[in-house]
Amino acid sequence: MKKILNYIDGEFKEPLSNKWLDNYNPATGEVYSLIPDSDELDVELAVVAAQKAFPGWSTLSEEKRSDFMLKIAKAIDDRLDTLALAESMDNGKPVWLAKVMDIPRASQNFSFFGTAILHESALSHKTGVEAINYTYKSPIGLAGCISPWNLPLYLFTWKIAPALTAGNCVIAKPSEITPMTAYMLSEICAEVGLPAGVLNIVHGLGPKVGSAIVSHPKIPAISFTGGTKTGQEIARVAAPMFKKLSLELGGKNPNIIFADCDFDQMIKTTVSSSFTNQGEICLCGSRIFIERSLYKKFKEAFIEKVQSLKVGDPLDNSNRIGALVSKPHMDKVLSYIKLAQEEGGTILTGGNIVKPEGRCANGYFLEPTVIEGLSQSCRTNQEEIFGPVVTIMPFDTEDEVLEMANSTPYGLSATIWTQNLSRAHKVAHQLQSGIIWINCWLLRDLRTPFGGMKQSGVGREGGFEALDFFTDKKNVCIKL
Ligand code: NDP
Repeated sequence: MKKILNYIDGEFKEPLSNKWLDNYNPATGEVYSLIPDSDELDVELAVVAAQKAFPGWSTLSEEKRSDFMLKIAKAIDDRLDTLALAESMDNGKPVWLAKVMDIPRASQNFSFFGTAILHESALSHKTGVEAINYTYKSPIGLAGCISPWNLPLYLFTWKIAPALTAGNCVIAKPSEITPMTAYMLSEICAEVGLPAGVLNIVHGLGPKVGSAIVSHPKIPAISFTGGTKTGQEIARVAAPMFKKLSLELGGKNPNIIFADCDFDQMIKTTVSSSFTNQGEICLCGSRIFIERSLYKKFKEAFIEKVQSLKVGDPLDNSNRIGALVSKPHMDKVLSYIKLAQEEGGTILTGGNIVKPEGRCANGYFLEPTVIEGLSQSCRTNQEEIFGPVVTIMPFDTEDEVLEMANSTPYGLSATIWTQNLSRAHKVAHQLQSGIIWINCWLLRDLRTPFGGMKQSGVGREGGFEALDFFTDKKNVCIKL
């Protein structure tokens, strides 16, 4: 059976404990590789390697660091098919989706930050005729990057690329549930000659490897994407150590549909914003609010479209929805479908496990599910489900929908559908969400600030903000 290995100090290493974890293919339910069950001793090796590499890497010119990033981006592009297949096998997502979304974006993360560093500048402030100040930027040192399973390589590289580009050495942990493409990235880094110790990837469980990274005194910056509860635990450990923290956490995003919207465009996009990647994207709109006069028409058209989504083998390009990432996650989603019914909801379509014939008979497939008749305050509408489940609710006024949209502890993203431009701006400004799309969804410009309000996170990724996070600034004042 294939063994995934840690990548530490430029070498591929087994975990010191020689303990291994099973890696499942969620589309078949079979174990197909083994993952290091690493612990704090492996993290310590990575820290030592990163400390050794830091003086050389941080003083390399921006052009040379950029060169490495662009080489990695090209190597990812060259392996598009292989990486997309690996991502699909590890996560359960359709291979066509990994090919158009996950892998191209992983490459763009390296090319985006690799070129951004060439355009970076620093401020200077003149204090009358007395003095001049300039801002001196330097890398922080060692950065810990921890990422989730839903967009494995996409989110892993979204952290690593700016951290490395800014001149830091990295100790990274992908989700133990989806480690394969991170392992393949380490092979790419070795192949392009990234200096040893600059990037170290330690595989294993969150409470062991993740917490060893977060609590390590020699790692002053932590960039984390994952659930809000894990984020709270990380903040609890890191805050007293005064670490720099970037937290991208969960969401329960509203999708607000006014009656004057472009109906066809809205319906098409709402199907995507509800169910792309099996609904396992932190930006999916899981609470859909529809102006009452449009509710009946929306409901009929939406259900028809949702029922036409084919669920099954991720390797079959005609399937729109693949497998959920794991059996425990499928059980969690199913428990919310049951809860929704207990809370008085009606399942309009979906709600059941799908058992495809053939090789995927034991995979973790679920029908896309639409629920109505729930109150805004019930648990189904307040807690993150992170699966192919949405609720639909009518509204009458702007004030009412804003109150409902803002009623959860989360504030990651929101979508608004209307042709009324001034209403679109007004509602956008009042929504408590860090990312707002008007008449579109998931249209991303990597220069824009990315992150959530309230319990959806702390800080922003993207553009120069990400490079800033991985940089220390000092002011140098010169008396004239
Ligand atoms: P988790 O919080 O369970 O895990 C995220 C990562 O943290 C994993 O690598 C995990 O390891 C690790 N981890 C777990 N416990 C600890 C710990 N105590 N200390 C350090 N690291 C730890 O999230 P999921 O992987 O389940 O991902 C889904 C969540 O991510 C959803 O809530 C989703 O909304 C959120 N998310 C947010 C995004 C955003 O940009 N705001 C984007 C994408 C997802 P292991 O896998 O071994 O448990």
